[in-house]
Amino acid sequence: MKAGFYIGDYKYEVRDIPNREPKESEVKIKVAWCGLCGTDIHKFQGMNGASVVIPPIILGHECSGVVEAVGPDCTLFKPGDRVACDPSYGCGKCNWCKQGFPNFCHERHGVAKGFSEYVYPPEKNVYLISDSLDLKSAAFTEPLSCAVHGLDLIEMESGKTVVMYGMGAIGSLMLQLLSLSGAAKIIVVEKEAEKRKLAIELGASEAVNDMEIEDISQEINVDYVIECIGLKKTMEQAIRIAGKKGKVLLFGLGNPDEFVSFNQFEAYKKEVSIYTSYLNPHTSQRAINLLEEGKIDTKKIISAELNLDEIGTELQNLTHSKKGKVMVYLSGEY
Ligand SMILES: [Zn+2]
Ligand SMILES: [Zn+2]
Repeated sequence: MKAGFYIGDYKYEVRDIPNREPKESEVKIKVAWCGLCGTDIHKFQGMNGASVVIPPIILGHECSGVVEAVGPDCTLFKPGDRVACDPSYGCGKCNWCKQGFPNFCHERHGVAKGFSEYVYPPEKNVYLISDSLDLKSAAFTEPLSCAVHGLDLIEMESGKTVVMYGMGAIGSLMLQLLSLSGAAKIIVVEKEAEKRKLAIELGASEAVNDMEIEDISQEINVDYVIECIGLKKTMEQAIRIAGKKGKVLLFGLGNPDEFVSFNQFEAYKKEVSIYTSYLNPHTSQRAINLLEEGKIDTKKIISAELNLDEIGTELQNLTHSKKGKVMVYLSGEY
């Protein structure tokens, strides 16, 4: 079977790997769709994703598909089941897993490398989806579950003002979650006019550029700032524009070698809190619930549908990734 590898040195290659049967509690899933994540691009550019990268590695982790076979210890699934994956494995036994934080598991690793015709996650990382949900949308389970976790951390109260940076794929999901969470006013900061238009379509009250937000934040108290880009400049501005009692969530993945600075005295006078969010502990089912209920528009976010071979060029040029979410079709089944 074919799989798309990052082989180091800014190189991507589709290789043939053995197609095997599932062991123990593994579920063998014929992958239908897999999203191209910002962390895949990070890995390709020689930076780490959620974990340290030692190539060659199969890329992708946002996948959905149909169960082909199950291991002898698997009790929850059967061939033909339509499923989405949580790619992040927690052992369930270490002190972090026991405290409910599998994202910090000592043995944490990816178990659904979706740029592959088949994946073999253990059954506890697999989620059944209803017939009402198409497999392409179901592949948004992982990125959406990460956004759900981020909003859990800041314990967002309804009726407040939120500023959100970046209308990339993750920002577009986050924005929709914010409107569902009862924000009174959502101001999106985005440099591209076309994406500002999309922001309004997906629930923003206003969409502005990074100059305009400086003035706006002087006039109103910004209660929450969610940064979904990961750039030093926007992260620093996000912290600066937060209002009194403001909570800042630095959600976008930054450059590991770069530092962010802010004026402690200014932050002190406002009691600003800064949050970061790591992965998706226990939020996959809630992401699926949102997708199944049609609460999240995934169609408007997708910029291209490519096959495994076409991803190499995309990773080089980022032509479609700049515009939105790139979906990789494996079986392409709905
Ligand atoms: Zn992802
Ligand atoms: Zn663990």
